Amino acid sequence: MTYDHMDATILVIEDDPASLRAITGIFGQSYNLLIATSGRDAIKLLQQPVDLILLDLYLEDMRGIDILEHLRAVGELGEVPVICVTGSDSTADVEAAFKAGATDYMLKPYNQVILRSKVKTFLDLKRKTELLKAESFTDHLTNIANRRMFQRQLDLEWRRMARDAKPLSMMLVDMDHFKSINDTLGHQAGDECIKRVAGLLQNNLQRASDLVARFGGDEFVILLPGSDLGETLLVAEGLRRKAEHTCSDCPDSGPQCQTVTITLGCASVVPHVQSSPEELIAEADRQLYAAKEEGGRNCVRPLH
Ligand code: GH3
Ligand code: MG
Repeated sequence: MTYDHMDATILVIEDDPASLRAITGIFGQSYNLLIATSGRDAIKLLQQPVDLILLDLYLEDMRGIDILEHLRAVGELGEVPVICVTGSDSTADVEAAFKAGATDYMLKPYNQVILRSKVKTFLDLKRKTELLKAESFTDHLTNIANRRMFQRQLDLEWRRMARDAKPLSMMLVDMDHFKSINDTLGHQAGDECIKRVAGLLQNNLQRASDLVARFGGDEFVILLPGSDLGETLLVAEGLRRKAEHTCSDCPDSGPQCQTVTITLGCASVVPHVQSSPEELIAEADRQLYAAKEEGGRNCVRPLH
């Protein structure tokens, strides 16, 4: 997959009018250009997503190296390719630029074909890296988030909720008697059931920051930042009821099918420095285990 036309945004940080004209001439027709003629403008423009940066190292109000260090320190921008396009061939500048995170370094006057080719190559690489990253965070059977994505989000939300002194809640969701679905209908039909339950959970999340992920096998996990235990139990009960109808519009539904049900273990905590996110998982797991141990299926724990 390549960036053909205006679907990539390049931020040009350059205060020399002649250089700016040259760069606009080369890239203006092919890419969406954002122009910053000072370091201050550049920092402002960096609040929006950009795909690549062309950076002049000597600006009137700021050193290009400082901008580079700033953007490498900002999570989202940390991986944006930066080509330093500069008149300075000083070894110290080259070394400092790469040390600060430059992707490449081109001396002015530059060959237009080489610059254009480098930009295209780095944009292609960036897109491929993004696709691989998205892939590595997706569960391939259900297309929802996988456990790795869940763990990343858990660590992030744990810190965010600790900062805001708000509750972080979690549900572990396990399909009931799933082995017998596999045994009677076959593994492929079992897979379809897992996909339907994943879709049901995904489509019934309450807030944009809620996340559902496949935890493994027939088990799912839902993270609810900002919801307390009472709210979480209500959401869980809603999901449990909806799951009872998972099969009603299934095209593969037949006389041998049993009703798919789920059991949910919930937990909630206001995170603080002495506690760890693993304790929240452990508590949700204890609740789920207790529900299944007591022989109860198709239920929510702790009891409301
Ligand atoms: P319980 O009510 O106690 O949860 O009983 P259960 O039969 O659902 O048992 P459990 O949750 O322990 O087992 C889950 C089963 O899911 C075990 C495994 O054979 C099956 N399984 C795990 N991953 C997959 C998968 O990707 N596809 C299919 N079809 N089955 C899977
Ligand atoms: Mg199960």
